Amino acid sequence: MAEVATRLKHVRQRIAAAEQAAGRAPGSVRLLAASKAQPPERLRAAYEAGLRDVGENYLQEALDKQEALADLPLCWHFIGPIQSNKTRRIAECFDWVHSVDRARILQRLNDQRPADAPPLQICLQINIDGESSKAGTTPELAAELAAAAAALPRLRLRGLMAIPAPQPEPAARRASLAALRHLLERLNADGLQLDTLSMGMSDDLDEAIAEGATIVRIGTAIFGPRPATADGRK
Ligand SMILES: *Cc1c(COP(=O)(O)O)cnc(C)c1O
Repeated sequence: MAEVATRLKHVRQRIAAAEQAAGRAPGSVRLLAASKAQPPERLRAAYEAGLRDVGENYLQEALDKQEALADLPLCWHFIGPIQSNKTRRIAECFDWVHSVDRARILQRLNDQRPADAPPLQICLQINIDGESSKAGTTPELAAELAAAAAALPRLRLRGLMAIPAPQPEPAARRASLAALRHLLERLNADGLQLDTLSMGMSDDLDEAIAEGATIVRIGTAIFGPRPATADGRK
């Protein structure tokens, strides 16, 4: 568990160096631990080392961890694919949802967000490299979806999220990240007030910060390689 604290420290140093290299204010990038397949004890260790934001991909796994960690004031982010029959628990149990890619899901999250909870913080997931296998709406449809999100009272549209295609060349990686930033700038020029770019994982953290990421979602670099889960996924 000391290992998690050490890795977390290195990730924080990487973030601070990237902020400085990009001329950005120290602390302007929020670190979210992407903790799929990690047991709750590892999240607890990360919490004790100062981590507050946790991102989960699978609802049942996340709910089990929330129960095990109910004594900790963590901020919970849902970052995985969303099936419409899962929206109620997501609306009830999370602070942020980064992976919304269609209007029907927006509407359900809005309708199911409890009245006594603050608005659910939302990012729209964009399939920035047009990969057929990947979730996310297209850049062309983003404006329409953003307008729909902004009109829903129980949601607060914060920005955009993407998982770029894996690319070995830093320049190619940077182009995908820049495309997401440009899309956010276009939406803001058209009158929205979005402040969040959720991009950057263990392998493209530095480029993502250079391109304006405000939330980075880091798994492997904090926790080490993911243990295989019972059903074999990682
Ligand atoms: C797993 C995951 C991450 C983190 O990936 P690493 O490469 O382990 O840092 C970030 N975002 C999403 C949506 C993920 O599923």
